[in-house]
Amino acid sequence: MKYLKTFIAMIVLFALLPSSSSASEKGEDVYAERMEFYKTIETVTLVPWYYIAAVDQYERNIRGVRRDLPKAEGLSGVYFEPMKWSGPLNPNQEDDNPMSITLFNGVGIDGNGDGKALRTDDFDALMTMATYLQSYGSDDDNLKIALWNYYKRDKTVSIIAEIAKLYKHFGRLNLTAHSFPVPLRSRHSYRNTWGDARGWGGRRIHEGTDIFANYGVPVMATCYGIVEMKGWNRYGGWRVGIRDINNTYHYYAHLSGFSKDLKVGQIVEPGTVIGGVGSSGYGPPGTSGKFPPHLHYGMYKDNGYTEWSFDPYPHLRLWERQMRSKR
Ligand SMILES: [Zn+2]
Repeated sequence: MKYLKTFIAMIVLFALLPSSSSASEKGEDVYAERMEFYKTIETVTLVPWYYIAAVDQYERNIRGVRRDLPKAEGLSGVYFEPMKWSGPLNPNQEDDNPMSITLFNGVGIDGNGDGKALRTDDFDALMTMATYLQSYGSDDDNLKIALWNYYKRDKTVSIIAEIAKLYKHFGRLNLTAHSFPVPLRSRHSYRNTWGDARGWGGRRIHEGTDIFANYGVPVMATCYGIVEMKGWNRYGGWRVGIRDINNTYHYYAHLSGFSKDLKVGQIVEPGTVIGGVGSSGYGPPGTSGKFPPHLHYGMYKDNGYTEWSFDPYPHLRLWERQMRSKR
């Protein structure tokens, strides 16, 4: 009888949550597999797993938004141009022979020991990246120098270092949870105003969603991330910028002030209070009250060269719905 009950309960459970449960299980498997993969490479190269994971995640993110690069499909997101992998003067751009690749100054190595240095093999690609990093040393400063020499872009180096810091702090790869930026119980309202002319000054289109709420209502981080920016700007007033590991920069403007002790470089989680809803902006530091209090919330992505905004409205709706159903 007991077994029958369990059996029925299981059938009901599977009938209720067929796609969502299997999808999340699959997701967790990928994280576990990747973690094993990174730790193995750490053992061989001595480059900390969270740095290997961060470069891998950064490359996966970039491939997700760039049309000139193939989408990341395997366990690893690292991508090498054929010419870089095989060597600039190598007549065979798809060369997978470790000896001739080395001869032509290519970077590709045989990571998994099968005798081939295969550009499309997850292990070979990630071992090649880790071996390159390790050639500079395995401490924070030297890894940053290695990254700068590889990407030649300060912003990319700081983004990867931030992802590494988050992985190290939380000790896991799954940092994708989100929450709504103001308490659900607060009286708030927002509409889809993406692309509208700005209500208050400026010639650019409105790059975000305005959430109207009372002055001082807590504003919370919507993601796991790092506070990258905190300060005053003529238009945004008191504002905070937080970057997550999935290539999104979250921008909070017109705050009444910042929460005590909030500082640049701080790690936040979904729900961490960062400040309060306000009406700061449109003047020198301290200017306030030129418009009704609201949180201006913006989202931006980076493709390795430049950053652009996208519409946060559907995400806000989703996070709000998810939080309501959790209660
Ligand atoms: Zn706004």
